[in-house]
Amino acid sequence: MPEQKLFSTIDFHVTCECSQECDYCWGPQDIENPVGTSTSKKIIKKIKDIGARRIVFTGGDPLKRKDAGKLIKYAKDIGLEVALSTTGDELTPAFLRWNGSYIDLISLPIDGSTEEISTKTKEEGHLKAVLKALELLKKYPKIDVKVCTPVTKHNINDVPNILDIAEDYKKKTKAKVFYNIFQTFPRSYSEVEWKELVVSNRAFGTLKRKLWGRKRIKVNFLDHQTLDKLYLMIFPNGNLVVPEGENFTSFGPFLEIKEINEVVNQSKFDSQKHLKHSKGWGKKLTN
Ligand code: SF4
Repeated sequence: MPEQKLFSTIDFHVTCECSQECDYCWGPQDIENPVGTSTSKKIIKKIKDIGARRIVFTGGDPLKRKDAGKLIKYAKDIGLEVALSTTGDELTPAFLRWNGSYIDLISLPIDGSTEEISTKTKEEGHLKAVLKALELLKKYPKIDVKVCTPVTKHNINDVPNILDIAEDYKKKTKAKVFYNIFQTFPRSYSEVEWKELVVSNRAFGTLKRKLWGRKRIKVNFLDHQTLDKLYLMIFPNGNLVVPEGENFTSFGPFLEIKEINEVVNQSKFDSQKHLKHSKGWGKKLTN
């Protein structure tokens, strides 16, 4: 009997470095010696060999790494679907010219429809940088675009305006565009005043109902229940990490794991939820 598939996507956090310092960040922090290009390629190869369909290059901001293009190309060459999650701050015409054909999807965060709202959680100028990145991406219609908003108490009332931005953008590009709305999850390596940031399930549910029926682009709502136990992460030091609740459980160096399914089964990772959720990410997604 063929082995049951437990996952389709693995998130490779290739760096902790980022131009942003979002309070709600649950990416890896303070890992000083990220694996180099050659070990990263071995990790990417293993991601393919163990049966994942897609790799997400994330971080920090993967574009902080000089070898980001090399890693992206390598992943594509060996047959993985490639997603890039970036702040947008470092996305340049040259980078897209060299690497655009190896990327299936780019995910860009928008925290507010105005600089005033955006700067509650992002650095000054971030909104402008993302809008510029979206402009650049118009030349690359084969790259799907995912706009993301981590919903906090600062921007919950602004989400309809951010959706307007995403919908307007869809009118100007041939690329597939969709919008992921996250309920900011209280998990971080730093001390965070979550009460000032996290919206309740009720408030997030109300937002969802408010936007119900806005169908010009595909909108996904990811509440706490959906987001928990959803990811398999490889950290910049090469360790496999499974987040659950406010915790991160490390299973040691990914390259040394012999029986990945055993490890995944031991962890709190929710395979069924992950596989269901991942279906919405495929290249065949229609708006
Ligand atoms: S942009 Fe992403 S990786 Fe960077 S600090 Fe914010 S949440 Fe973390």
